[in-house]
Amino acid sequence: MAQIQTIGILTSGGDAPGMNAAIRAVTRTAIYNGIRVMGIKRGYYGLVYNEIEEFTSKSVSNIIQQGGTILKTARCKEFTTAEGRHKAYENMRAAGIDALVVIGGDGSLSGARIFAEEYDIAIVGLPGTIDNDLGGTDRTIGYDTALNTIVEAVDKIRDTATSHERLFLVEVMGHMAGYLALNGAIASGAEAAIIPEMETEIDQLADLVNRGFRKSKNSAIVLVAENPTTGGAMGLAQRIKEEFPEYDARVTILGHLQRGGSPTAADRILASRMGAQAITALREGQRNVMIGIKNGELVYVPFSKATQHHPIPNHDDMEIVKMLSI
Ligand code: ATP
Repeated sequence: MAQIQTIGILTSGGDAPGMNAAIRAVTRTAIYNGIRVMGIKRGYYGLVYNEIEEFTSKSVSNIIQQGGTILKTARCKEFTTAEGRHKAYENMRAAGIDALVVIGGDGSLSGARIFAEEYDIAIVGLPGTIDNDLGGTDRTIGYDTALNTIVEAVDKIRDTATSHERLFLVEVMGHMAGYLALNGAIASGAEAAIIPEMETEIDQLADLVNRGFRKSKNSAIVLVAENPTTGGAMGLAQRIKEEFPEYDARVTILGHLQRGGSPTAADRILASRMGAQAITALREGQRNVMIGIKNGELVYVPFSKATQHHPIPNHDDMEIVKMLSI
């Protein structure tokens, strides 16, 4: 196989803290190994509309501590069409790019899989999403920072919840995955987590009320994973109003503040290790895999597995929230 001479790098989908650390690691490891780096702006949009510029080692100076992504990110409709991907391929070739590193979530990696199949190009993915919802990896870049942001916010809400003796429903992100809600609940000492994965098993709200969760406490905080089907925290508040009017429930939606902020040390290290490994993978002739982490070891996960249904949070962890909230 011909040696890779030039790679393109892009960030796509929702931004996540640690994407910059990953861009830096990919860029510098490539340059260290004599590979040119082309930065592609605004995800697949930049490939389709030719927003591509060469990166030097200096292009990624002083960014490891910054949230967001210096490459910008976008959702690109054109790339979901065959014509759009054809334009992307032509621009990629014109810029001399012979392999791609794509940093993003399941949508971005699904796009990468289709693109790689159509045009026989080497693509390596990095899991960049706060949701922790990709298959074949224990962690995604951005998850730890988002979790810490949630804990900080819930600690503050606890102060007012305690003073007013109220029930607070705090909605967190997750894209139909309950990791942020569940581990956010454990880390902040919340009374419960309501997550999409448990929805078909039990009525989580009724279970909570039946446990008499608030009788001996002067405040309660429940972390609710966003869920367009049930309406998330707002949907639950409505149900409480109708079915359990004895509770005075208030809703806080943390929203996009969970995406921002300086990445934690754990996310910076994860992004740096995965970014360096992306170049090793391409040099080894790996293609169409995502870099994952399993039990502390970096692994190669085929795109088809990475974008399958995300792993379900551990049932034992749900039990821990319950036991520790008595
Ligand atoms: P997050 O999990 O943070 O939302 P994501 O990567 O899942 O991130 P998406 O909006 O789902 O974000 O996908 C990002 C982009 O990837 C889309 O705008 C589109 O350009 C491309 N993409 C997604 N799915 C496909 C697909 N099936 N075929 C081609 N391109 C796709």
